[in-house]
Amino acid sequence: MNHDNNPIWVIADQENCKLLPVTPQLVGQARLLADVLATSVEVVLLGEGIDTHTEKIFAAGADRIYVGDHPDLAMYHPEVYTDVIVKLTLEHHPQIMLMGSTSMGRELAPLVAARLETGLTAHCIDLRINQKGILEQKIPAYGGEITIVCPERRPQMATVAQGVFPSPSPEGGRGGEIVSIQGPFLPSDRIQTLELVMEEPDGIPLDTASCVIAGGAGAGDLQGWNQIVELAAILNAGLGCTRPAVDEGWAELDTMIGQSGKMVNPETYLGIGLSGEQQHMVGVTGANVMIAINSDKKSPVFEQVDVGIVDDCRDFVPVLLEKIRKYKEQQTSCQ
Ligand SMILES: Cc1cc2nc3c(=O)[nH]c(=O)nc-3n(C[C@H](O)[C@H](O)[C@H](O)COP(=O)(O)OP(=O)(O)OC[C@H]3O[C@@H](n4cnc5c(N)ncnc54)[C@H](O)[C@@H]3O)c2cc1C
Repeated sequence: MNHDNNPIWVIADQENCKLLPVTPQLVGQARLLADVLATSVEVVLLGEGIDTHTEKIFAAGADRIYVGDHPDLAMYHPEVYTDVIVKLTLEHHPQIMLMGSTSMGRELAPLVAARLETGLTAHCIDLRINQKGILEQKIPAYGGEITIVCPERRPQMATVAQGVFPSPSPEGGRGGEIVSIQGPFLPSDRIQTLELVMEEPDGIPLDTASCVIAGGAGAGDLQGWNQIVELAAILNAGLGCTRPAVDEGWAELDTMIGQSGKMVNPETYLGIGLSGEQQHMVGVTGANVMIAINSDKKSPVFEQVDVGIVDDCRDFVPVLLEKIRKYKEQQTSCQ
């Protein structure tokens, strides 16, 4: 089948009926891609009590929204959501399908791709249409970027983290077609979602922090890591990390910054004991001023930051902490 004019789909992502910012971001990017292909942007919106989001989705650039508003879809369920999306895909044949690299998208995208027997590129950092009209999906790899294409199978599927694409300026008054998806949406007897528990993040949230400190493998051990935790607290900074800090059990996965973690846009970024691997650094490209502390003066991280400090972080951070404490005491005594 020729899919040249088939639509581009975005699978909307909502939690507790709140639309996640990644959805309008993906719709905005889908609009740019669709304009190149002279096709339409369509969104699949599943949940309960979610039809209030349609205005925002149209304003971001969608032409049509398939709305499944039903109690059986209220909470994300991997099997039920996969069934609905696969069935719709087989009816409407989108040429491209985009999802957020969110807790839902990371699970749902491979399930849908496997059922449709098509390719999927996870955690993309850019999406373009090439001269053959094929989706080029860029990911960081091998110290740079590589481009992946899915030339034969359809849809071409990609996931993208929140913050990779900007939130589009809403086009007020822009409307489109709403298509209601009818149930029944068969509940699964194998998996049931009983409750959705949202964890409150510790400390300053990374998404809004004006200063972000990220610690890496160079922290060495829990004691070294705790020095970085203390530094973030005293500077009122958001605390992020690289993959090894998660693997070591020093930090939680939801504080990992990078391709498969969070994208941050702070005024100041301070990377401590990390090597500057692309998979981490793509998450901090929005930072205004970048600083790194690394004991290896040849570390690639120094090529990517504005200020580089060559030192052992286990020596440097305690001295820095002491100086900040003294400075704060002086400030208090002067008042
Ligand atoms: C598909 C894929 C997705 C990935 N996604 C992510 C992601 O989202 N986020 C992420 O972070 N990683 C991700 N990774 C892992 C990534 O490739 C790197 O392995 C990781 O970022 C490296 O972390 P690091 O810099 O802390 O460790 P390392 O690369 O081991 O670097 C440690 C650095 O610390 C320095 N150092 C050592 N001791 C000290 C000391 N005492 N004082 C100061 N400096 C010291 C060393 O010189 C070195 O430069 C991903 C990998 C893959 C394959």
